[in-house]
Amino acid sequence: MAVLVTGGGGYIGSHMVWALLEAGEEVVVIDRLSTGFRWAIAPEARMYEGDIADAALLSRIFAENAIDAVIHFAGSIVVPDSVSDPLGYYENNTVKSRALIASVVEAGIPHFVFSSTAAVYGTPEVLEPVSETVQLRPESPYGSSKLMTEIMLRDAAAAHDLTYTVLRYFNVAGADPKGRSGQSSKTSTHLIKIACAVALGKRPSMSVFGTDYPTPDGTCVRDYIHVWDLVQAHLKALQRMRAGGGSLVANCGYGHGFSVLEVLDTVKRVNGADLTVDFAPRRAGDPAMIVANPALAMKELGWVPEYDDLDVIVRHALDWEDRLSRRNATD
Ligand code: UDP
Repeated sequence: MAVLVTGGGGYIGSHMVWALLEAGEEVVVIDRLSTGFRWAIAPEARMYEGDIADAALLSRIFAENAIDAVIHFAGSIVVPDSVSDPLGYYENNTVKSRALIASVVEAGIPHFVFSSTAAVYGTPEVLEPVSETVQLRPESPYGSSKLMTEIMLRDAAAAHDLTYTVLRYFNVAGADPKGRSGQSSKTSTHLIKIACAVALGKRPSMSVFGTDYPTPDGTCVRDYIHVWDLVQAHLKALQRMRAGGGSLVANCGYGHGFSVLEVLDTVKRVNGADLTVDFAPRRAGDPAMIVANPALAMKELGWVPEYDDLDVIVRHALDWEDRLSRRNATD
């Protein structure tokens, strides 16, 4: 059987494609290449360029390939953009996901894995690792747009022959340990990506957004998870569903967090040079602290992270950023 990866040209999707191929899976990708790249998709995958809401294209993909599972990454992910363009986010993340789920149900595809986010939690009431059972209070249209898709999946699975796994990602960072992929978007706003670009002289400076949060050093705390560990959790989710494991909603994080300043100190240390940083006001939609309780993913998926080490995450991100500069120089 084959696996359809939506957004396979994007950051996490491109790693997923490599991981599936390594696991011996046949892989089909759909990507409209609005933020992803064709060159980021492993050549062994079969690529369809187009939109996940294009029902005719989806039914052709399902007719041409023996697909038993969809892993759905395609979507928009920038929290402040979702605050300024909420309807765009609901369109791209929620409305298009609804169309994709409808195509999946129509074709009778039995398994679905969805990229959700810690942003569905908002700021937890107590500053401790969050379990899946805490109250969901997204603070940005991005978080709401993802939560709405979770709800659609739950209800579609109750009504149809569909099993799903929702994985709520904390802060995904780093790059393929074998150097085949990484975060390649020039418009990425992720902290570790930006800090690595500054460290390598690709950007002159960066800002720390907010120094007055109720956290130990006043900057936001996040649970940074290595992208390769994250895609391995998806593989486990796929195996579990195929074995009849049923639907699941689980956090993907390590269970401990780092502040923005701690991340910047790590980038300085690992790279061996200073960073030019200024201090700016809070960014819209940012919760003060969000750290995962990953116990459920570990228990249900048998997921054992391999790269739970901020130095390694930063080293891999720096290596990719460097490789990307050489690649762009020869493009
Ligand atoms: N951040 C920052 N400077 C930057 C990018 C991010 O201070 O140039 C902060 C951001 O405000 C947040 C944390 O780093 O507190 C993580 O942000 P990121 O965009 O990486 O992920 P998010 O948590 O928003 O998904």
